Amino acid sequence: MKQKYFGADVPKLGFGLMRLPRVAGHPDVIDVEQTAQMVDEFLAAGFTYFDTAYVYTGSEDAARQALVERVPREKYTLASKLAAWQDPKDEEKAKRQFETTLERTQAGYLDFYLLHSIESDNVDLFDRFHIWDYMNELKSAGKIRHWGFSFHDDPKMLDRVLTEHPDAEFVQLQINYADWNSVSVHSRENLEVARQHGKGVVVMEPVRGGLLANPPQKVAEILHRAAPDRSSASWAIRFAASQDNIMTVLSGMSNLQQLRDNISFMKEFQPLSPDEEAAIHKAQDVLDGIPSIPCTGCSYCTEGCPQKIAIPDIFAARNTQLIFGAAEKGEKDYERAVQEGGAASDCIQCGQCESVCPQHLNVTEYLKECARVFGR
Ligand code: SF4
Ligand code: SF4
Repeated sequence: MKQKYFGADVPKLGFGLMRLPRVAGHPDVIDVEQTAQMVDEFLAAGFTYFDTAYVYTGSEDAARQALVERVPREKYTLASKLAAWQDPKDEEKAKRQFETTLERTQAGYLDFYLLHSIESDNVDLFDRFHIWDYMNELKSAGKIRHWGFSFHDDPKMLDRVLTEHPDAEFVQLQINYADWNSVSVHSRENLEVARQHGKGVVVMEPVRGGLLANPPQKVAEILHRAAPDRSSASWAIRFAASQDNIMTVLSGMSNLQQLRDNISFMKEFQPLSPDEEAAIHKAQDVLDGIPSIPCTGCSYCTEGCPQKIAIPDIFAARNTQLIFGAAEKGEKDYERAVQEGGAASDCIQCGQCESVCPQHLNVTEYLKECARVFGR
C-alpha cells in the first residue's frame, strides 16, 4: 500500500541500510554483492525508500556501490542523516558531514535529510550549530528535497522541538508493539504528538533491533496460533505500518531471506485485522508481565552521579536480557553504556540517584545485580 507524502507515493516498506549483510568470516566488511541483489529485489517489488546515515560505518559507500552506481536516480529515494554530536566542538565540521555524504554516495542530491537522533542531551548542540537553518539552506539550494529529524526522547520534548521547528517536514520515531506503551521509549505517545503537529512519520526499529523476530516463547506462541504461516517479524512490521500517519517503515534487513519475507507481506500490505490486533494486545500483555527493572529512562538520576554511571542505559541493557532473553545484545548494549562513564560496579552507594528517582527505585541494588551479570 502506498500513500502520498510530499506529492509522491511512498511505499510502506523502507530499506534501512544499517545492518547490511557481511562477507563470511569478515564481520566488518559489507557484502556489496548480496546487498546489490537485495536492492534489485526490493526495487522490483515496487519499493523505493533507502535510509542510510553518516555514522553507519560503510553504509553510505555501500549505498553508492549497490544502488547509486547501478540504478537510475529517479527510480529510488535516498535518505541520510547529519549527526552534529559526532563533531560537537566544530560547527563547520558538523555541517561538512553533508558534503561527505554526497561524496560517499555520489547521489547528487538527497531526497530526505535528517538531523540524527535528537534528544534532550543534544538538542542544544543542533540549535547552537544552526543545523535547522542549514537544512532550509540545503533545501533552497536544491541539494536536499525534504528534511526532518530522528528522535529518541519523550513526548514533551517532541512537542517542544516540533513547536520550535514547525518547518521540519517529517519525524523518524521508534515505533513497535513492545515499546508501544513503554514509559522510556513512548512509541504511542510520540506518534500521537507527531500527528497533532501534522507530521508524517518514518518508523525505525519496528522489530526492536531484531528482538521481535525472535520474541519470548509465550509471545511467539500467541502469534503462531493466530497465524501459523507468518514470521514473528511480519507481525512487528505490519503493526507499525498499520498505524495512522506512517510514511514508511524502515526494516534493517541483513540478508535475502529477511528481505523476501518482508516483501511477501508488505507488497500487498494489509493493515492488521481486529483479530490480529487482539493477538498483538495479548502479546503486549505478556511482554508487560515479564519481570524487569521498572526504570522509565527519565535520567533524573544521572546528572548528580559522582561516578558518571549511565544508570538508565545500563538498566535498559539488563531489561533486554530479562524481557527478550537476549544475553549477547544486552552485553553489547551494556558495553556501549559504560564506554564513557562508570560501570555498574563503580557505584559507591552514595544514594544521590535514589533521592531523586521519581519511581523510587532501589537503584544501588539493581546496579549490584547488573554488576554481577555484566562484570566490568
Ligand atoms: S548511588 Fe551509585 S549510581 Fe547512585 S549516584 Fe551514587 S554512585 Fe551514582
Ligand atoms: S531516575 Fe529512576 S526512573 Fe529515572 S532513569 Fe534514573 S533510575 Fe530510571
